[in-house]
This record gives sequence, structure tokens and C-alpha cells, in this order.
Amino acid sequence: MSTKKRTLLKVIILGDSGVGKTSLMSQYVNNKFSKQYKATIGADFMTKEITVDDTVVTLQIWDTAGQERFQSLGVSFYRGADCVMCVYDVNSAKSFESLENWRNEFLVQASPSDPDKFPIVVVGNKIDVEEGKESKRVISEKKAKSWCTSKGGLMHFECSAKEDINVTAAFEAVARFAVESE
Ligand code: GDP
Ligand code: MG
Repeated sequence: MSTKKRTLLKVIILGDSGVGKTSLMSQYVNNKFSKQYKATIGADFMTKEITVDDTVVTLQIWDTAGQERFQSLGVSFYRGADCVMCVYDVNSAKSFESLENWRNEFLVQASPSDPDKFPIVVVGNKIDVEEGKESKRVISEKKAKSWCTSKGGLMHFECSAKEDINVTAAFEAVARFAVESE
């Protein structure tokens, strides 16, 4: 007989258009990466089941359908979120500067009861991009970590959705963080 607990966690992925939100989700859930730019996947969320300690967690991962480019996301996107993944592109200073806005927007829209303790994981994506090729890295790991520290110690991961580097680790950290703060 299983003594495992079960829980459902709503994870929302925030960040500027093009940073790789959909790619991270698709790599994590389906082990697929596409070079094609797809603004929308046509679904509100995808699910994946994982085990964290003695808890079976169904991660319900919400991705935007590209609305982040022109308008704020609807309140239903934010409602009931248990954890947030805030994504930037390590090769884009602008996307890193936007993190502040995304975090603020989330705190305003979802108004969690304890904003300082709310599980937010920051992800720097596209670390596979080689210097001098498509672009080059402008946000160092040190710079990102120091921003995370200044916001009360947010967790930070550097990933590549393309090469599948650290993607599982980032999502599992989000899940663990949320389970432990329940
Ligand atoms: P979104 O708008 O944040 O959902 O971004 P997408 O997931 O649609 O990705 C935008 C573009 O960046 C697409 O052309 C992807 O193929 C590309 N991309 C996403 N993740 C990576 C990555 O880790 N490395 C590289 N080199 N390209 C990526
Ligand atoms: Mg997308």
C-alpha cells in the first residue's frame, strides 16, 4: 500500500517574449526542442508527474500564448499559482532587466499572502549560445545571483532548453520549493 501523499502544483512561467519559456516547458515535459519560433502552443498548460520526497506531485505548468508581447496576462493566468519560474536570456540585457517587472506584476496580480517567502525560481536560459555566433552572453552568473540575493534570496539556475542543460533541475527545484512551503 502506498503511503505517498499527492498534490497538484500550479507553476507559471514568466518572462519576455523569446527568452525560451515555451522551449523550457517543451524540453522538460516532452524532451523536445524546436528551432521554429512558435508564439503559442494552443494549450493553457502541460502536466508532468514527479516525486518529491514522500509526495507525488502533479506539476501543472502554465505557459503564455505569446500575450506577454503586447498586454498583461489575464488574472486567471496568475490565480492560484503555487510557484513561479521567471526566465531571462543570458544573451539579452533587456530580458534580464524585465525580471523586476515580471516579479512585481506577479506580486500585484496574485497577491500571495507572504510575498517574501513565495517560491520564485529565476532561470537564465540559452547558455549554449557560443560567443560571437548568434549573440554573446551579457549577463554573468555573478550578476544574476547578486540580483536574486537582493530580492530575498531567490533560487537561480542557468539552463539551456536547446541542449537540455539544468532544465529538469530547475523545474524540480520549483516543485520542491513549493512542496516545502505548503
Ligand atoms: P518564448 O517566447 O519565451 O516562449 O520563447 P520560445 O521558447 O518560443 O523560444 C524563442 C526562440 O529561442 C526560439 O527560436 C527557440 O528555438 C530559441 N531558444 C529557446 N531556448 C533556447 C536555448 O536554450 N538555446 C538556444 N540557442 N535557443 C533557444
Ligand atoms: Mg512562448
